[in-house]
Amino acid sequence: MILLTSDTETRPTAAMRAAIAAAEVGDEQKDEDPTVLRLTERVAGLLGKEAALFVPSGTMCNVIAVRAHTRPGEVLLAERDAHVLRAEGGGAGMISGVMTEPIESGRGVFDPPALAATLDRIGALPSPWGPRATLLCLENTHNFGGGTVWPQPRFDSVCDAAHAHGLKVHLDGARLINASVASGLSAARICERVDSAWIDFTKGLGAPIGAVLAGSREFVAEARRLRQMVGGAMRQAGIAAAACLYALDHHVDRLAEDHANARRLAEGLREIPGIRLVHGLPETNILFFDPSGAGFTAAGFAQALAAKGVKLVPVAGTIRAVTHLDVSRRQIDEALIAIREVLGLHGR
Ligand SMILES: *Cc1c(COP(=O)(O)O)cnc(C)c1O
Repeated sequence: MILLTSDTETRPTAAMRAAIAAAEVGDEQKDEDPTVLRLTERVAGLLGKEAALFVPSGTMCNVIAVRAHTRPGEVLLAERDAHVLRAEGGGAGMISGVMTEPIESGRGVFDPPALAATLDRIGALPSPWGPRATLLCLENTHNFGGGTVWPQPRFDSVCDAAHAHGLKVHLDGARLINASVASGLSAARICERVDSAWIDFTKGLGAPIGAVLAGSREFVAEARRLRQMVGGAMRQAGIAAAACLYALDHHVDRLAEDHANARRLAEGLREIPGIRLVHGLPETNILFFDPSGAGFTAAGFAQALAAKGVKLVPVAGTIRAVTHLDVSRRQIDEALIAIREVLGLHGR
């Protein structure tokens, strides 16, 4: 199978498994796992923050950060299609008791007036009646926006505007390293104005488990308490952290190959009659396309392709393709051939 469903499909390589096998370990819950300590120190430095915490998943990082930055009844603002709103089982409402409000955008990226308009619409600007908005969650790259990289001046200005309105800013950086590689900016530069941020190791970085959440010392101390509350503190977690350290050493620069492969796939799709790229050419490793012009529903097209060995996911009436470590350039070309075959265009 050619797995274009998600960059979570990556399997640990033999060399990563060797790093896992050799890991020094201790009791992580007591802050005594040396490999976890090396990882959190390194990621704190990478993101330019004072401290960091190892967390089992990215979703748990969002759960913890939303709870740390808000009190029940307050408002969490996020772009309409943000993962924290669309794909986390309603956890922000359940665990943090916050109201959530969507911000309209193009491809996941908006500007200070859009933030101000949302605050105004919900009555959150100082008034005795409206709810209190206290947190803005941003996503970079933006997954459902098509792997969009925020232009840095825009990202900075939205952070400044949020702070001016008294909001904290949390960055869902599931693919922050993709944004860094694509833009040439350091992760620390991208995160300069956010109050907390995390990176996922189980997406394009190719590790089997783990995410790291970073922020001020005070924030991380509270995050540690909340992680205990949701059952996310671990024991000999150096086993997992060793894979993450390996990924930082060996899987960062190669993300550029995933971006080139996504672009190659998009350029191939663009030539196929009836296929429309929903967001144009991809900036990173995610693209969405619409096969309806060729007479297919997204689900029907995904099913027909699966029968030819290419796995893709239908998302909201379109199809998402994600490139990663376990998809080669040759497989991209094979996937394009399979797509032409499904459409009866092979050889034309
Ligand atoms: C995958 C993803 C998450 C959740 O991360 P997990 O490690 O799968 O829990 C959060 N935000 C975005 C944008 C993601 O793509």
